Amino acid sequence: MKNKYDIIIIGSGLGGLVCAYILSKNGYKVAVLEKNAQIGGCLQTFKRFGVKFDTGMHYIGSMDENQILYRLFTYLGLLHIPLSRLDPNGYDVISIAGERYKFASGYDNFVETLTKSFPDRKADIQNYVSRIRDIAHASPLYNIQEIYNHTFINADYIKVSINDFIASTTTDVRLQNVLAGNLPLYAGIKDKTPTYIHALINTFYIESAFRVVGGSDHIANSLAHSIRNFGGEIMTHKEVKEILFDDKKATGIRLKNDDIIQANAIISNVHPEATIRMTDTPLIRKVYKERIQNLENSISNFTVYIKFKENTVPYLNYNYYFYERDDVWDSINYDKNNYPQTYLFMHQCHKDKAVYAESAELIAYMKFEEVEQWADTSLGKRGEAYQAFKEKKANQLLSKLEASFPGIRNAIESYETSTPLTYRDYTATKNGSMYGVIRDKNFPTQTLISQRTKVPNLFMTGQNINSHGILGVTIGAIISCAEFLGLNHIIKEIKQAQ
Ligand SMILES: Cc1cc2nc3c(=O)[nH]c(=O)nc-3n(C[C@H](O)[C@H](O)[C@H](O)COP(=O)(O)OP(=O)(O)OC[C@H]3O[C@@H](n4cnc5c(N)ncnc54)[C@H](O)[C@@H]3O)c2cc1C
Repeated sequence: MKNKYDIIIIGSGLGGLVCAYILSKNGYKVAVLEKNAQIGGCLQTFKRFGVKFDTGMHYIGSMDENQILYRLFTYLGLLHIPLSRLDPNGYDVISIAGERYKFASGYDNFVETLTKSFPDRKADIQNYVSRIRDIAHASPLYNIQEIYNHTFINADYIKVSINDFIASTTTDVRLQNVLAGNLPLYAGIKDKTPTYIHALINTFYIESAFRVVGGSDHIANSLAHSIRNFGGEIMTHKEVKEILFDDKKATGIRLKNDDIIQANAIISNVHPEATIRMTDTPLIRKVYKERIQNLENSISNFTVYIKFKENTVPYLNYNYYFYERDDVWDSINYDKNNYPQTYLFMHQCHKDKAVYAESAELIAYMKFEEVEQWADTSLGKRGEAYQAFKEKKANQLLSKLEASFPGIRNAIESYETSTPLTYRDYTATKNGSMYGVIRDKNFPTQTLISQRTKVPNLFMTGQNINSHGILGVTIGAIISCAEFLGLNHIIKEIKQAQ
């Protein structure tokens, strides 16, 4: 460890690692400081019962040749990451009140497949698909096009809610619910979530959908390997406690153990609220701090990590979104006594062309208030009542799963669970929020966070800048690095990458 770097990056989530990759490739002396033992943030995996589990990256899209993530992965040296294609005729299955509907890969195939469930609504589905496609194409950065200003999303789609947008494409209420059916991917909220978030995520997966074989930590490890080859440093067990300033700019950071490291610039990959808590300088005005601290964050989750008995459960090559009731928008306001009303069930891909599944994850929304009584406890020391709470919730979830997949409980060898507290403590996100700050079409500018802060050499990156998910965070990292290199320089590099 040196005592001065060009750029310190706080946090080794996807955003921090992509920034470190781009900047160290371009000659900057970069250090990434990570508080945990493992790098990656939501790309981290953990092992239980001899099985590796993902924590926050279960499937990715647009990885066929020349599609957007393929081009970004080419640039980031990630094309060797092993992927397994999800069923092109139904990568997502949406189950609403007992009926199942399929999302298929490819725009025409998507229309044809869904039309089988809604024979009279082909024109509506075509209209929906072509409009979300137009929205995605209206964003130059999502198409690796050179641009000359930062307004990269058509403002109309920031100000219209996704439910209003979908309702404008069809009057069939069941079809409206189906089209919104993978909304846990962005924790969509009725009358709030802007259309562009839904459009970018759905076109991303319609183009093609894959699981990472053997765990999402491959992505973090490969980026780390490249960063080190470019001369960058990545250090774990380095929790940043404070960002240091002189009267004009940031000068470095103080670690939890009080070590000080200096830098010419700092990028924080940590949630903006946590970043602001690390600052004590008149350069950042109180009104800005209050705005960031008062932003609403997306809901958290409860997850059951399942190991199956060997060779008992055929591998499901799709993701299963379950809604007990007709109204998918209602699922976020779940009834605690009838938990859960919604879940996402996914097998993990431990090898390509798997015949049987080794493991799966069962994820349901969970509000922080459900675990608030244990908020002051730390990992592994939360007590018996917390264990009993987790066991009760796991049982509720598994019973609902059994109703959709009869016999599945008997095939489970063991399971582990996580709560909003687990996510809070691993990623330092307020209340274990899954996707960070909620974007609100009613307050479009107030809920968009800039990569710039009020300090000229302190920047932010990660899922709160631009958008969450593998694509949103990678593009957000490009926007953050553009502060050093210029956007069109990076776009040129991406275009030239082979
Ligand atoms: C349950 C779940 C499922 C998801 N599924 C998908 C999916 O299938 N596909 C998809 O594309 N996206 C998915 N996402 C979203 C995606 O994982 C995230 O948007 C993305 O990984 C967030 O990256 P980030 O750069 O913002 O950082 P994070 O992953 O939040 O990482 C931040 C890092 O900063 C570190 N840190 C925090 N405080 C400090 C400090 N003081 N000092 C040093 N280090 C610190 C943390 O330890 C962490 O490593 C999912 C998310 C969740 C929660």
